[in-house]
Order: sequence, then structure tokens, then C-alpha cells
Amino acid sequence: MESFSYTKVPDVRAAVAAGQRGGRFIAGGTTLVDLMRETVERPGTLVDIAKLPLTGLSPTAAGGLRIGALARMADVAADPRVRSAFPVVSEALELSASAQLRNMATIGGNIMQRTRCTYFRDVTANCNKRAPGAGCAALDGHNRGHAILGGSEACVATHPSDVAVAFAALEAIVHLQGPVGERTIPFADFLLLPGTTPDREQALRPGELITAVELPALPRPSRSGYLKVRDRQSYEFALTSAAVALQIQGGVIRAAKVAAGGVGTVPWKLPAVERHLLGKRPSESLWTEAARRAAEGARPLRHNGFKVELLKRTVERQLRVVGGTR
Ligand code: SF4
Repeated sequence: MESFSYTKVPDVRAAVAAGQRGGRFIAGGTTLVDLMRETVERPGTLVDIAKLPLTGLSPTAAGGLRIGALARMADVAADPRVRSAFPVVSEALELSASAQLRNMATIGGNIMQRTRCTYFRDVTANCNKRAPGAGCAALDGHNRGHAILGGSEACVATHPSDVAVAFAALEAIVHLQGPVGERTIPFADFLLLPGTTPDREQALRPGELITAVELPALPRPSRSGYLKVRDRQSYEFALTSAAVALQIQGGVIRAAKVAAGGVGTVPWKLPAVERHLLGKRPSESLWTEAARRAAEGARPLRHNGFKVELLKRTVERQLRVVGGTR
């Protein structure tokens, strides 16, 4: 680990000012400290934001829920309002990392976490995300866990967050505080595709701090849930995952929100699946037909062709679990 300076800030305004001067925000520290130990990250200044008053959850006027950026993963997963209205969020959080990490890691940090691509974390390997212009060792290397959707010639790393998949499905809104004030950004626009600049991962401006993630109200009654497929049953990242929320009234699907994880360079919203579901009655064949559309546009690499079929089966299974068959 290289030497760095460390400062605590008393309020959001001071945090933003420190961020504008090039400081890196740290809260739970569950990703950044690891990366600093491996010298993947070398921040000159750490700005400790852990004590800022951004831990609360509160209902919005429109019936949604605002989750403070510094709320701990475990606390959000256990919150009765999340469990009752957005079980897909609770389930995604509880299937993430380990209990110890969930007790420390925050919601803002979770969506900011960096990829688990092994070449990114190996400072002897070529990696455009860590060192722009260096090349991508994964393209011709071992790429079993990499993306089949959203990749580029520069980078094919997956986004590792589970709860971000639920946020993508639910069309969450990210609240930011920056030097010139507050703004919001749709979650779909917050995480960036790699394109030619995989080192730029979020649509953040200098100094901007995530203050909250807002879950818009779901049409009621809605059911939702998260399925994660991985090589082992705990403390493992997704090979594929599916976040599904459905509103079924009068035996007809009135609203459908679906996204996939483990397969895209960002959490992958599945509008073709959603469109196929709308206005139809749940049935075994409907789940199968809708899920067939999950892998549209997939471009598998040498070692991850299996993800195409696994993605379709993951989505199909979770549609069936959430929607049932009538
Ligand atoms: Fe780096 Fe992305 Fe290539 Fe992995 S996939 S080595 S993160 S550029």
C-alpha cells in the first residue's frame, strides 16, 4: 500500500469540496481498502464520509422509498419497508458478499464498487480500466466470468453488484450533491458502458457525492424477487442473475420490470422481455417465450458461451417464481 493522507469531513458540503480537490470518498471501505493494498488504487487523499447523516430510509411523496447512500447493506435488507414493498432489493442484498461485509458496506459504495475481473486486480496484467491504453488481457485470456452484453474492444468486465441489478430493474433514481447543487440521474444512466473509456465507470462530475438511491413506487399489488446463479452458494459473484418485479391484476400482467446481472458490463435491463410480458396471462409458455429474449444481442467470448443459455434459464425461472402460473 502506498502512503496517502486521510481526512474526516463534518458535513456534505465539506465532503463535496474535498472531492473537488481530488479526494476519494471512503465509507465502509470494503472495496477501496482491498484495492489500495493491491496498489490497483492509489488515492492521494481519502475523505472519510462514514459519519455523514446519510443513513436513513424515508418514504417519498409519490409512494417510493429513498435509501440514504450511507445506509448499510444489512440494514437496508432488513428494513420492513424494503422487505414488504421491494423484496427484490432485500433478496439481492442478502445474496451479496458475506454477513461481515454486509454489516460494513454501504448502498452508495455498493453501486460504486469496481469489477472483479482478475486482470484488473493483477497489476502485472494489461488492463484498460486500470491503465488506459494498456490493452485488455481478458479478451484473449480466461474470460469465463466476463460479459456477454455491453462489452467493447477495450473492456468486457462485468459489474459485480447484485443490488444494482435490482435498482436497474426497478428504474431507481440516484441523488447526487455536487459543487453547484443537487441533481438526480436515472440509474440506467448512472453506470457507463465501457466503450473506449472503460476507466470512466459512472456519470459523476468532479466532487459529486451520492446522497441517496430512490426506489420509485411500484404499481400495487406487485411481487418481486431476485435469483442469483453462482459457482458456490455463498460469498461468490453471479454467473447470471435476474431481478423481476411483476404486477398481475385480473390474471393479466399489467407491469413488468426485469434486469439481469453477471452478464453485462453494467446491470442489464431487459426491455424486450418486459414488452413480451405486458398484457398477457401468466403461463409456462409465456415465461419461456419472454426469457428467450433475454440474451438478444449477446456476444459471448471464448470461455463464456454457456452464459447465453444460462441467462435465459435464469430469467425464465425467476419469472416463474415471481409470476407463478395460472
Ligand atoms: Fe481490464 Fe476490462 Fe480487460 Fe478486465 S476486461 S482486463 S477490467 S480492460
